[in-house]
Order: sequence, then structure tokens, then C-alpha cells
Amino acid sequence: MSQRLPYQLVSLNWKKSRTVFEVKGTEIGGEDLFMIAGPCAVESEDQIEKVAAHIKELGIPFIRGGAYKPRTSPYNFQGLQEEGLEYLKIVSDKYNLGVVTELMDLALLPKVYDATDIIQVGARNMKNYHMLKELGKVDKPILLKRGMDATVEEWLLAAEYILLGGNEKVILCERGIRTFDTSVRNTMDISAIALAKQLSHLPVIADPSQGTGKRSLVGPMSAAAVVAGADGLMIEIHPDPENALSDGQQSLNFDEFDEILPSIKGAAELAGKLVSFSKQKKDGQKQFIKI
Ligand code: PEP
Ligand code: MN
Repeated sequence: MSQRLPYQLVSLNWKKSRTVFEVKGTEIGGEDLFMIAGPCAVESEDQIEKVAAHIKELGIPFIRGGAYKPRTSPYNFQGLQEEGLEYLKIVSDKYNLGVVTELMDLALLPKVYDATDIIQVGARNMKNYHMLKELGKVDKPILLKRGMDATVEEWLLAAEYILLGGNEKVILCERGIRTFDTSVRNTMDISAIALAKQLSHLPVIADPSQGTGKRSLVGPMSAAAVVAGADGLMIEIHPDPENALSDGQQSLNFDEFDEILPSIKGAAELAGKLVSFSKQKKDGQKQFIKI
């Protein structure tokens, strides 16, 4: 007798075919590796403009950046809030980039909805079931982070809340979990990526920046996530990580980001995924830098 699963709508066993959808001309969950890059927090118009110009040059279709930040300490930078949403809108229009930004509170939904193409639910809100129910009624995709203390089953049940409300466009995002090991901020749970892909039809992406909390581990964990079956990556980059207002220690500068792209491309080839990012040379030829 087969075991009864606690969730249904998110289950691959139930739906049988993988969920693939398009956002702003980019297919998510299909053959292409879906790339999102940007700062942890939107800090200024100049900062977000520099990031947008860089990722546009690489052909990365989505920019991330928190306008409302869930900080552990109330004394830390809390985000530019509405002003941050404005800057995201400006670069999205200028460079035709999709936007991913976090919804911290349902009261902010109208503002965040207008400024973003994909609404991020952070690790801390993964168990905000009231919020998940409301997002089930929204006609925009939801990027659902795994809670830092959530089991894979709890994560899938959180997604089930959104699907049950009628919104089938959910992207699962592994972002590391808390373990006994203090040598990293979080332990990137690569097995959860493979497991989520086995259990669910939903696209699964990885956030190796929160997932490790350490800049030097972002490249290796990006490649590992892709080999494990991730449909995409969300990576924190900053023009000047040393002076970032949040998560500088895990953010890559532009050169460091460019340097990890070839290994991501190699991992994608192994996993049977296509990548579209590349560095455009002046003569119009595309090339990968520093292979
Ligand atoms: C982030 O993406 O910057 C973030 C705060 O993520 P998480 O909710 O995974 O901590
Ligand atoms: Mn961050």
C-alpha cells in the first residue's frame, strides 16, 4: 500500500508533469537555468543601477534586492522601503529586467505587488500561514524560501497553502538551514534540492548566498546545487561588498561573480540545463570570461 502524503497539490506523484511557467519572457522550471542576481538590500539608486547594468551585460534576466529587510537586530539597516521599490522599478524599466523582492508583511502587499514580478517570501515568513493563504489569491509568482528550521515536508506544506488558494506559480528556494556547525552561517542543504525535485513538480532554485553566509562558498555551492537538479540560482552581488549595508560577507563583487559563471555553466551542462548568460565582447561575440 502506498503511503499517504500530507500534501497533494505540490506533489509530483499527484500532478505527474513538472510545472513550467514564464515570467517576463523567461521560462522557469524548464530547460533553461533561471538566474537571479542582485544585492541583499537596495541601498541607493546608484548601487542598484550599477548592479542592473552589470547583470544586463551578462544576459541575466532577473534582479533581486530587498526594500524591506528582515534584520536580526533592530539597530541594523532596515531597508529603503518605498524608495527602494522605486529604484527597482526604475532599473526594471530601463533594462527590461524582472524584479524579485521580499514581502515582509501583508499590509505592504499592494506596494510590493506593483514593484515586483516575483514576490519573495523569506525564510522567516515561511510559516506565516495567514500570509501564505493570501498569496494563494495573488496573480504573481511566489518565491518561497525554506525556513531555516523547516523540514522539507514543512516547506512543501507551506507551498501547498499557496497552491490551495489558487496560485500555482510557486518557486521553491533552498537557502540553507541551521545546524550545530558554527563555521558557516547556514548549512546549504543540497540534498533538499534533489529531494524537493523528487517529491514536487514545482521549480526548485537555490540561494547559495544565504545558504552559506560566506562569499568563498557561493561558487562551489552554486555548482553543487545545479548538479543536484536546481532549476535556478539566486546570488547576492554588490558593487562594493566590503561596504554593503547588509550581507556583505556573503556578497560577490562583479569580478567575483563573473568568475563563478563558467563553473555554473559546466554544472548546468552536467545536469542537462541550458544557460543563456555570457559576457558580450565589444565585437558582439559572446564569450565566457576566465574559463
Ligand atoms: C535575503 O534573500 O536577503 C533573505 C533575507 O533571505 P532569507 O529569508 O532566506 O534569510
Ligand atoms: Mn541577504
